[in-house]
Amino acid sequence: MKPTAPEYFNSIPPYVPGKPLEELEREYGITDSIKLASNENPLGPSPKAMKAVEHALSNLHRYPDGAAPELMERLAAKMGCRPEEIILGNGSDEVIDMLAKVYLNEGDEALMTEPSFLMYTISALAQGAVPVKIPLREDFGHDFGAIIQAITPKTRIIFLNSPQNPGGTVITKDEFEAFLKKVDPSILIIMDEAYIEFNRDPKAVTGLDYLDCDHTVVTLRTFSKLYGLAGLRIGFGVMPLHAAQMLGRVRPPFNINIPAQLGALAALEDDDYVRETLDTVHKGLDYFFDTLKDMDVVCYPTQANFFMIDLKRDAKEVYEALLHKGVIIRPLGSYGFDNHIRVTVGKPQENERFVRAFKEIMATL
Ligand SMILES: *Cc1c(COP(=O)(O)O)cnc(C)c1O
Repeated sequence: MKPTAPEYFNSIPPYVPGKPLEELEREYGITDSIKLASNENPLGPSPKAMKAVEHALSNLHRYPDGAAPELMERLAAKMGCRPEEIILGNGSDEVIDMLAKVYLNEGDEALMTEPSFLMYTISALAQGAVPVKIPLREDFGHDFGAIIQAITPKTRIIFLNSPQNPGGTVITKDEFEAFLKKVDPSILIIMDEAYIEFNRDPKAVTGLDYLDCDHTVVTLRTFSKLYGLAGLRIGFGVMPLHAAQMLGRVRPPFNINIPAQLGALAALEDDDYVRETLDTVHKGLDYFFDTLKDMDVVCYPTQANFFMIDLKRDAKEVYEALLHKGVIIRPLGSYGFDNHIRVTVGKPQENERFVRAFKEIMATL
């Protein structure tokens, strides 16, 4: 007889990542393809982070300092919280996983939107909990009325995501405060803000402003997007002390490796890179919305470094045709939207290449 995993493990769906460039080039025999599929930073990593990582190499025989004191101090100053209120993760993915481990048991319910980031589902299912999915509004905003309606005595966690992936919408301060009033403080609220630095809407809320309220609000941030360090795997959660202490008990002691700690610290100080990234993304979005406005598709307004397009036809063919032209974007079929694609803002030449290929394909298919 074989050892058995809990039965509910069979319901965990596989994570579908964006197609890697190398795989595309191998399969299609093409070169110089571009990837606008995973919301990565188009400028490459922060140069200051790269230098710091190089210096870290001579210490690779050492265990990292799991407490990462320097990084924690710097992050706390930047977030306006205490270092004890931060939990570092191997990507914010790992913080999501730790939160699920601590707060979800078999049969509990975790509310989330549909579509939403697949890691919420995976982490909840791995605890034997039930992901309860509430469709986004037609404009891809959170439907707070429906979320409140879906709360039951079994609800333990509510996942919110602002800017929302893949919709690009933000949660406003008014929406969030009206919502909080209707939620029992025993329910943990997670605000995933992986893209918040790209936001230009002054009405948007941040969970950081609710660190000291009656509710337990956890704000998730990452170095994977604005700071261009997706490959290093580092993110963090800001949360009330009682939650940070519980997560501290399950956090693997060496989960942030030495290059990641030093790279993240350096990226935080790389003001030129941050400014250039924001400038590239915002100008890129303006370019896309301007050049696509005459087409018979719907581009959804966005506050992130990506945007969604409703093609009004099945997206799979368009996705495949783009691949043949060496352009990788994300079809949203795995999110339940067969007619939609998500495009990450790239460098200007990459954006132009997407627009050219996309217009050709839409005119001929
Ligand atoms: C990219 C992304 C993250 C960040 O994940 P990391 O594990 O920090 O790389 C978190 N949430 C959402 C919705 C994302 O799109």
